[in-house]
Amino acid sequence: MLCRDVKRVVYFFLDGSLGDRKKQDFDSHLRLCPDCESRTKLARKLREFLRRRVERINVTAPDRLKMRLTRSIRAFRTEWSR
Ligand SMILES: [Zn+2]
Repeated sequence: MLCRDVKRVVYFFLDGSLGDRKKQDFDSHLRLCPDCESRTKLARKLREFLRRRVERINVTAPDRLKMRLTRSIRAFRTEWSR
């Protein structure tokens, strides 16, 4: 795996939706590449921040907005799994 691959899949890695083999590639790249390691740590923090915000939206948003959000997340995942 190259640095640009790491950048491309880091969110799927954090999401746990990366396949086993890719995940191993990812892990071994991080051990060799401090740049990508710190980038991944940063991405994890950002992801946790965003998740907290989404949780807050889920509590306060009207149903129609929630449905729209769910739909776009699903579309995004479908796009990735191709
Ligand atoms: Zn790298």
